[in-house]
Amino acid sequence: MPPPFYPHGARIAVLTQEVVGVLDYLAPEGGVRLGQLVVVPLGPRRVMGAVWGPGMGDFDMAKLRPVARLVDAPPLSGGMIEFLTRMGEYTLTPLPAMLRMATRAPDLDQPPSARRIIHRAGPPPERMTDARAAVLRVIEDHGGAGFAPGELAQLAGVSPGVVQGLVKSGTLAEVLAPRDVPYPRLDPGLPGKPLAQDQAEAADALRAEVARRAYGTTLLRGVTGSGKTEVYLEAVAECLRQGRQALVLLPEIALSAEFLDRVEARFGARPGEWHSGITRSERRRLWTMAATHNVGLVVGARSALFLPFADLGLIVVDEEHDSSYKQEDVVYYSARDMAVLRASIEQAQVVLASATPSVESWVNAAAGKYRRLDLRSRYGTAELPEMGTVDLRQQEMERGRWISPRLATEIAARKQRGEQSLLFLNRRGYAPITACRACGQQIGCDHCDARMVEHRFQNRLVCHQCGETKPIPTACPACGVEGKMTAIGPGVERLAEEVAERFPEARVSVLSSDLFHSARALKEAIAEIGAGETDIIIGTQLVAKGHNFPRLTLVGVIDADLGLQGADLRAAERSFQLMRQVAGRAGREGGEARGLALLQTYQPEHPVIRAILSGRDEDFWDAEAAQRQAAGMPPFGRLAGIILSHPDMPVVEDYAHALARRAEPLRAVGAELFGPAPAPITRIRGRCRVRMLIRAPRQAPVQAAIAAWLAQAPKPPTNLRLAVDIDPQSF
Ligand code: ADP
Ligand code: ZN
Repeated sequence: MPPPFYPHGARIAVLTQEVVGVLDYLAPEGGVRLGQLVVVPLGPRRVMGAVWGPGMGDFDMAKLRPVARLVDAPPLSGGMIEFLTRMGEYTLTPLPAMLRMATRAPDLDQPPSARRIIHRAGPPPERMTDARAAVLRVIEDHGGAGFAPGELAQLAGVSPGVVQGLVKSGTLAEVLAPRDVPYPRLDPGLPGKPLAQDQAEAADALRAEVARRAYGTTLLRGVTGSGKTEVYLEAVAECLRQGRQALVLLPEIALSAEFLDRVEARFGARPGEWHSGITRSERRRLWTMAATHNVGLVVGARSALFLPFADLGLIVVDEEHDSSYKQEDVVYYSARDMAVLRASIEQAQVVLASATPSVESWVNAAAGKYRRLDLRSRYGTAELPEMGTVDLRQQEMERGRWISPRLATEIAARKQRGEQSLLFLNRRGYAPITACRACGQQIGCDHCDARMVEHRFQNRLVCHQCGETKPIPTACPACGVEGKMTAIGPGVERLAEEVAERFPEARVSVLSSDLFHSARALKEAIAEIGAGETDIIIGTQLVAKGHNFPRLTLVGVIDADLGLQGADLRAAERSFQLMRQVAGRAGREGGEARGLALLQTYQPEHPVIRAILSGRDEDFWDAEAAQRQAAGMPPFGRLAGIILSHPDMPVVEDYAHALARRAEPLRAVGAELFGPAPAPITRIRGRCRVRMLIRAPRQAPVQAAIAAWLAQAPKPPTNLRLAVDIDPQSF
């Protein structure tokens, strides 16, 4: 069915900050279609917009300004328009910001003539220079993708002439932009791996769901290594057989070459890739190809959810519990929840895959809203690791040491046998606190309410909130005493120091996000570990996800108590997920020795620690769910956060109190307002932050109530920012 056609006037959603909503314009000669991207005049400017509906009818045609021109790009589908509209209503985001999410392809409004593109075409040049090598490296880093000529030179840090030289020598070729080049077809008919019985059953169930061509959500649960990926690739195969498109969302960090290789092995070609590392030209190509059904499968980070698929039949959200699916910037949304919304509009299936689902998804499955499929064992011979605690109250710990004698013994035994050990400590840097031994002063950030963290490899103090750095002082900035500044507590760098002292002949690798300057460097480090070139891995949560280290048989959690405290109600859940994932790294694949995971703790009786040890994850979720229900917390009740910020604390506090005094529209729907109170991190980048929390019964029309409440708010002081976070992650 062709989209509705408007011969005269049209409502155009305009992509600007200041226009909230839609404006009427005169359709150009020949009319416009729903979803068509256009350029329209707005005051003295020209801005991009999308046709959002027919004109209102009661306008004076003579006064309407005409659409300036049509954009040479496929129109947004009716489903996409409904999705953006409903998501905007749900998240209380103005339409222009929603539209911007859906038109993230660069230069969509540029005329097509400038569409030249460079790609690898022949052997390396005979005369290789550093500059030429840099260009070839950039191409390789991006998996052979195409580039605009200027873009390639810029990324490589060379002059455009170097790129032109490589074109002349035949190493590179210049062609039409791949915006028009379809992705290679994936073949669902190629044989997949023979599946184990529980995998086959789950795959059958998913295939049947996908074949219905209707909405449904399935929670696919199974420990790490149980073969969930193999199973959902079968759902992708069915989706492709149906002639529909599939989207696999992964946490950014898991978007590895390994995953793309698996897709290629299964379907004979690589999928479209969408994440922060792809080039502008590739972005534009994927956007267009998604809209014209010239890409069958897209693998991407959360923003891939906003690609304009022509016929989306399946969305997989892998590691569905992962906090990187929640965006808390400009538009506050959960990609997992919005995947469910989009699928319900597109008559598509959703698969939420996880070893440690969120409590929300667990409850939805228990309530029958989602179907649940369980993979019960690890694939093949790999066994779950043995779990144990090291009770730190009973260990003789030396000052300034963090590896207990018990854990050290196990590490030494692994080293002897040529196996790998992983020490997990979720703290970047050398030490979390730098303090003066003379006066006790701790060094904080000048712009944030946060301590500066020593990073010894960089030889600087770093603020983990805003990224500000400063040199490590020799004298105390408070009392001026020289030589008394001390590092307190461990970070991964300090742990590495201890390991080097105690296991001087071991090959050590530290995996912490700040130590890698490119995705490529991280990839290389991970490949080296996989190849067995490391004995001891020290890592932050970077190691919890997705990497497969077959020789790894010991996981030591240095501080299992680290995430357990805190006022946040989700602390237990997060801590449980993280430790379960990390522990699952031990003995992944048919290693001879069964893996061992040891949790160092001062509170072995804590319910989270006990749940990890017992392996009865269901009990943990049921207990968490019961607590949430008793407290009226999500998913049993609804929450919304209001975050206000301003450079001056009194200004933001006054305004927040003024808002709180007028909360009648909230109370009218049975919602309660908590706060205002200083946000957990009160100052970030020089802005003071105050938070309010709204809790409402499940069925209450929270968004409408918040909108009504904010509509009658007093005029905000200049420079005040207010954000609404529906379903906040922390509460
Ligand atoms: P998960 O996604 O649950 O962590 P994966 O699908 O990644 O599990 O499977 C773990 C490992 O087992 C992978 O190396 C995968 O290739 C392998 N594997 C899983 N299922 C099969 C199968 N049916 N046949 C052969 N190898 C399999
Ligand atoms: Zn800071």
